[in-house]
Amino acid sequence: MNCVLTLLMSGIMSSLMPNLPYANDALEPVISKETIDCHYGKHLQTYVNNLERFIQGTELENLPLEEIVVKAPLGAIYNNAGQVLNHKLYFSQFSPYPRSSQPDGELAEWVNRDFGSFEGLKKKMTDASLALFGSGWVWLCMDENGKLVVLSCANGDNPLRQGATPLLGIDVWEHAYYLDYQNKRADHVASLWNIIDWDIVAGRAKR
Ligand code: MN
Repeated sequence: MNCVLTLLMSGIMSSLMPNLPYANDALEPVISKETIDCHYGKHLQTYVNNLERFIQGTELENLPLEEIVVKAPLGAIYNNAGQVLNHKLYFSQFSPYPRSSQPDGELAEWVNRDFGSFEGLKKKMTDASLALFGSGWVWLCMDENGKLVVLSCANGDNPLRQGATPLLGIDVWEHAYYLDYQNKRADHVASLWNIIDWDIVAGRAKR
């Protein structure tokens, strides 16, 4: 391998584009290969390309993504940084169908404490997803006091900006489900519970 190619590859490796930790058809039938190819391969890649272009040569350039999201000025940089982080968390929170796991250990205790039950958490996130008008995200978060809360965020907003730690995100932009579910957002949200990796979700909570 020649030097130029090595440099080029090291540049690609340090990109803000996260890896997809499963095959592009591994989440079927909950999320189709076509949706992954478009959502991960095109929408997310575009957010990454935009963000890398916008922060080039600025003081944000070498910061961790989470810090860029907290510090970015409102507008194009924040919109794209928020969406890169949102999708990084989103695509890494799933594991191949059918997962059908539930929160356990400490996370299960917190869910019971703050939502009454796992069913209570699912209902709260589902209701918030259906109520969100337009594009955005619904997040299970841990707030600054260690309490679990469900937050609705418009567009590319991320809960870190409000001081909450995002644990699990539902993308309610139409691009996340329209190829597979058309207008049936409720069906999409109901099916998502079959692919959540709760160990990953639990690992995002600050102890
Ligand atoms: Mn999306």
